[in-house]
Amino acid sequence: MVGPPGSGKSMLAARLPSILPPLSAAELLEVSMVHSIAGQLSGGKLSDRRPFRTPHHSATMAALVGGGFRARPGEASLAHHGVLFLDEFPEFSPQVLDALRQPLESGECIIARANHRVSYPANIQLVAAMNPCRCGMAGEPGHSCARGPRCMSDYQARISGPLMDRIDIRIDVPAVSAVDLLRPMPAEKSADVARRVARARDIQRDRFAAAGLSDTGTNARCSTAMIETYASPDPGGLQLLRDAAERMKFSARGYHRVLKVARTLADLDGQETVGRIHLAEAISYRMAGERLTAVA
Ligand SMILES: [Zn+2]
Repeated sequence: MVGPPGSGKSMLAARLPSILPPLSAAELLEVSMVHSIAGQLSGGKLSDRRPFRTPHHSATMAALVGGGFRARPGEASLAHHGVLFLDEFPEFSPQVLDALRQPLESGECIIARANHRVSYPANIQLVAAMNPCRCGMAGEPGHSCARGPRCMSDYQARISGPLMDRIDIRIDVPAVSAVDLLRPMPAEKSADVARRVARARDIQRDRFAAAGLSDTGTNARCSTAMIETYASPDPGGLQLLRDAAERMKFSARGYHRVLKVARTLADLDGQETVGRIHLAEAISYRMAGERLTAVA
């Protein structure tokens, strides 16, 4: 999420667990084991709400992906089956951010030691928020950065291309004006959204279970070979995807990630086939970031 301070990015992120389905018994067990190893199971209290972790941007690599004395799990593992929210994304050290690539790809954090390795699960949903530039107001009407356009490009370039490539949904969160506060838009309640999410998750679980892939569970966890089968678009969608991939120079990873998002959008619609409209939406979420990279 890219937007000026006060636009509600943190609030949006914090609401995400409220629309996710509760942890299953098996997930709850895994989550409590990781928290117990990290010494964070206070009073033995268990909750079926998905973890929501918000490490500060000064976090070290060990704090984020695990390690240090006793090779404790890091925030990415404490967020297992839940949400890892990184606010002020470009303020994290670039090395620390790049260490996230592995868990985002494989769903686990591996801590290598001289004579052994430790692996902790880290199947996470990464949510990141940033201001458009260091002073926070680039692109806002009537504002001009003291450092000119470089203020925005230098700041956004702190996020490496390979890390950006792993972020599927990129959105601009504009400033909230006084008029918006006086006349709020009609909003859907979290409980209603949660029901739609649960339905889409059920469709995905059934799809992978029927194929004997119960471990996969969600489109996000689906292998690239399988997603081409399950998200095979209609002809109009395929043409759109090919054009976009060529024009925007998608990486192979980017291509498959767009397919996964489109599959999920079709699941939310209860549609068997991924259509042009789902692909158009999925591509638009990736485009916002391509614009960012182009500026950088
Ligand atoms: Zn600025």
